[in-house]
Amino acid sequence: MSNNGIIIIGAGIAGVSAAYYLNRAGYEVTIIEKSSGRDNCSYGNAGMIVPSHIIPLSSPGMISKGLRWMLDAESPFYIRPRLSLDLLQWLWKFKQSSTEKHVEESGPLLRDLLMASRDLLIQIELDVEIDFSFKKKGLFMFCNTDYGLSKEIEIAKKALNLGIPAEILSPEEVKKLEPALDIKIVGATYYPNDAHIHPGSLMEKLKSIIEKRGVRISYNTQVTDIITNGEKVESVITSDNQTFTGKTFINCAGAWSSSFMSMADRKLLLQAGKGYSITLENPPVRPDYCGILSEKKVTLTPMYNSLRFAGTMEIVGTDTSVNPKKISGLKNSVLEYLPQFEAEDLEGHEVWTGLRPCSPDGLPYVGAVAGYSNFYTSTGHAMMGMSLAPSSGKLLADLVMYGKSELNSDLISPNRFN
Ligand SMILES: Cc1cc2nc3c(=O)[nH]c(=O)nc-3n(C[C@H](O)[C@H](O)[C@H](O)COP(=O)(O)OP(=O)(O)OC[C@H]3O[C@@H](n4cnc5c(N)ncnc54)[C@H](O)[C@@H]3O)c2cc1C
Repeated sequence: MSNNGIIIIGAGIAGVSAAYYLNRAGYEVTIIEKSSGRDNCSYGNAGMIVPSHIIPLSSPGMISKGLRWMLDAESPFYIRPRLSLDLLQWLWKFKQSSTEKHVEESGPLLRDLLMASRDLLIQIELDVEIDFSFKKKGLFMFCNTDYGLSKEIEIAKKALNLGIPAEILSPEEVKKLEPALDIKIVGATYYPNDAHIHPGSLMEKLKSIIEKRGVRISYNTQVTDIITNGEKVESVITSDNQTFTGKTFINCAGAWSSSFMSMADRKLLLQAGKGYSITLENPPVRPDYCGILSEKKVTLTPMYNSLRFAGTMEIVGTDTSVNPKKISGLKNSVLEYLPQFEAEDLEGHEVWTGLRPCSPDGLPYVGAVAGYSNFYTSTGHAMMGMSLAPSSGKLLADLVMYGKSELNSDLISPNRFN
């Protein structure tokens, strides 16, 4: 198979967003996807678009909190101990990044990327006239302890300092905005600029639009090797022995990106962060807004007539099996905060599993790969892939077209840990 255009590996939101902008810029684009393209992380997630999330995962206090959570089988976090040099290096960089300095440096960048992305998503909605249930209503961080609320207020103040609108609400003020929902909280913070979508709907419709505009997506085709010549990637080889040649190659392989990059002798520190969701088609109550049960890190998102709960972060490699303890932890969190839900309301729903591509410093990897003139990457978006992918896709299209982008920064360089 010969192609003189752009080859993107991975048809998740990172790959599809990059394809959208490169196709609009006039490039011939092919996406190679190892599966049906529907069992990746970009489908069953919580669908929150979060300009408020200006604190990277690696931040002060996260390591001690993580260690406490490791002792509780139903907690939202787990790392499976294993002898892996990649995991040890990732953990070491995570520890080094968990500083106030890193939080201060990352905040303005995340704000800019997330706000740009939200605006781009609004343009995509207008451009392609597709409905993906994009609700620009804001997001609540619900707190059921005074300590939890004090922590969320600290974050809200940081957001306000960065110019991100944030409010601190009493339970009565939450009730006025969300009258149908009973929720046991001491208070909440509220971010009016946040939004939510139906992620599977966005993915299906965006792929259909780009295919109509000429992007080719080759499903069930796994890239197994990368052929390089000096500073150029020449082609990729697939499991069915096809050769895809191209002028430019972009890694959007999500949680599988480090093994993909190793085919071109490049190291990318990345761990898969497994999360789960369950979707209730007929929930006892369907809120209008999306929200996060702050102390338990469980999300709730209304999507059309359904309601989705999501959460947990398990660093266990690319194993997608369901850990029943984590699912009961998620359900118990829902029951603790939301008295309108009974245990049986949460039973009998299929559990969706997704692998988030997580960098150790909580920032994505977007940009040119060192040592190559035609190789780029867009991954590592971790818990914010739906929120960040449009700006990463635009950034990549700018880099390919002009060699620079106003969204670019050394903080998200794919080469920053080399
Ligand atoms: C429970 C949960 C809740 C979440 N909630 C939110 C949220 O509310 N808001 C938000 O912004 N983000 C959220 N996220 C994060 C978001 O879902 C991810 O960051 C995002 O989907 C990652 O997209 P991606 O394109 O990088 O990876 P993926 O969607 O996983 O796509 C990567 C693709 O690459 C393909 N691939 C890999 N290797 C190869 C190869 N060798 N050859 C060919 N194809 C290959 C894979 O098959 C896959 O389809 C959540 C994640 C989880 C798990």
